[in-house]
Amino acid sequence: MSMTRREFLSVAGPGLTARGPEAADWRAQGILHLEHSPHARLKNVPVRAVALHEGFWTARRKANFERSIPTLLQLLEEHGVVDNFRRLSGRKNVPRRGPLYTDSDLYKWMEAVAFVLQSGEDPGLRATFERLTDEILAAQEESGYLNTYYVEERRALRFQEMHRGHELYCLGHLLQAAIAYYRATGDTRLLDGGIKFVNYLAENFGPTRRPLLAGHPCLEMALVELYRITRERQHLDLAGYLLEGDGERLKLTRQQSIYLFSGKPFTSRTRLEGHAVRAMYACCGATDYYMETGRSDYAATLERLWQDLARGKVYITGGVGSRAQGEAFGDPYELPNRLAYTESCAAIGNMMWNWRLLAARGEARFADMLERALYNGVNSGMSLSGDLYCYRNPLELSGDPDDRIRNPWYDTTCCPPNLQRILASLPGYFYSTSAEGLWVHLYHGGTLEWRLRGEVRVQIVQRTRYPWEGRIELEMRPERPAEFTLALRVPAWASGARLWVNGEARAAPAGQYAVVRRLWQPRDRVVLDLPLEVRLTAANPMVAENWGKAAVERGPLVYCIEQLDHPDVSIFDLLLDPDAGFQEEFRADMLGGIVMLRHKGRAWRSSPTAEPLYTRWPPPARATRTAEITLIPYYTFHNRGITAMRVWMPPAGA
Ligand SMILES: [Zn+2]
Repeated sequence: MSMTRREFLSVAGPGLTARGPEAADWRAQGILHLEHSPHARLKNVPVRAVALHEGFWTARRKANFERSIPTLLQLLEEHGVVDNFRRLSGRKNVPRRGPLYTDSDLYKWMEAVAFVLQSGEDPGLRATFERLTDEILAAQEESGYLNTYYVEERRALRFQEMHRGHELYCLGHLLQAAIAYYRATGDTRLLDGGIKFVNYLAENFGPTRRPLLAGHPCLEMALVELYRITRERQHLDLAGYLLEGDGERLKLTRQQSIYLFSGKPFTSRTRLEGHAVRAMYACCGATDYYMETGRSDYAATLERLWQDLARGKVYITGGVGSRAQGEAFGDPYELPNRLAYTESCAAIGNMMWNWRLLAARGEARFADMLERALYNGVNSGMSLSGDLYCYRNPLELSGDPDDRIRNPWYDTTCCPPNLQRILASLPGYFYSTSAEGLWVHLYHGGTLEWRLRGEVRVQIVQRTRYPWEGRIELEMRPERPAEFTLALRVPAWASGARLWVNGEARAAPAGQYAVVRRLWQPRDRVVLDLPLEVRLTAANPMVAENWGKAAVERGPLVYCIEQLDHPDVSIFDLLLDPDAGFQEEFRADMLGGIVMLRHKGRAWRSSPTAEPLYTRWPPPARATRTAEITLIPYYTFHNRGITAMRVWMPPAGA
């Protein structure tokens, strides 16, 4: 049974309006719509409720909006990604082009556009989205099936090669784009198309019908999000079925279920393994499923997997997936720097997963992980100019001119539109509400206008130059005096943070939310001061490559050094001096405006590259001299051309 738009609205309407007029309002829905999710402690605020002022992310979002989004659509057209739909509707007579998952790249681009439209009207972008919706729906079959690859001579292969097919992955991204557009405009045309395909799946596949495999997880989280709109139990159940896995009927090998991170019960997982993006997306879907069902076996598995990540499988940049072979997670502590695969999509998956865990649990460790990924391993993925992208985000580069890490286009172009949708949706990650009050997760100048439980409308103006400066000022503007809790995240690195409410000091424990409950009056002032002293960070000695080395961090930013700032010495001969300190200098003219660090370090007098590979133990004592070292934020690497780069450096005397 396919669902027309009218039928869809009639299903969604009464169920939602029964919970209050605003619940039915698409304008009130955030990145995740958790209002009725019984096991979500925190609720998202809509993207449109937060207006970011000038600052760090506004500059990045500007590059996204002005340069990245328009140029990528051109590239998608040039590479035939839209034509792949047009040829099916008979609008163009051209061969199909690109790998089998190109549909998802267009959907992800559309999702980014939809998030832009959640922040404000843009008639041109809206018209483009509508035009693309026409192209897509014209290619959809009467049954609901929609995929540009499994057509014509490949038609017989539908759902026959689900371990590589990406049919459900593409549908997942279609739904995410459609949901984001619904939340931008209230329009359900694309969403209805997506639901038609979902209903086709629900009618033909499942435990008592033909088996189905996620193959590349993504549809699970999209289905739960769809359920949050439609309240159709079968949408949630299909997500549950995919997470449970039907690998025995599908005769998956053990290796396949590891690589795919699907096909066997999610709750049987004991570690992160296999394809990193698949694993992260599966964890997103499982957390979404948990927030609707409250199943304790899901909670236990998610905690186990998060510990596995945090204790041995995440880079200091928040990047994940160290192995190029299979784009996979490595063993615990297998975190090579130069060989780091760390796909942009995997860091994004890490961020999205931690956003869901944060909503489920309300614990600062998840927001810390999210911030680490966002400012570093995600942020590095798009150039400052907005039109070059990293697929890999290594932590060290040799400077080989063939090692072109930033490129305008990839045949597998999953990362560019993924970065776009994160930047476009970013305002939705700053705040949450809960039964207790309001939570602030991230810091940036901006204005929140939203309502708390009890329907008190509140405006909060946040003033700060974070991440360059640590002082954050919040001006509270409730519509009337109102008692609620304000929870401010104090990052784990911010020991010594200080907090004042109207000048009165309050506790601000690092690695937790500082909680202030009071009767808030209009114009109450909160000041949080996060110490941004440069700090040296060591890795667990089990991380072989970083043994004896240190990374330089300041606030949420990881720093690196580039060869082009050190014309007279190889950066691989440079040593940090732990006693020397760092000079901070804001450079508006450099890399879009950064706090650059200067450090009086050391350098080997003669380069070890002149010595034999092996010598008798102990190694010769090595003479050093002073050397000026310049450090820049990691996310800006290779924005001035190809050059050697490193994050982890040995300290002198080590
Ligand atoms: Zn990617």
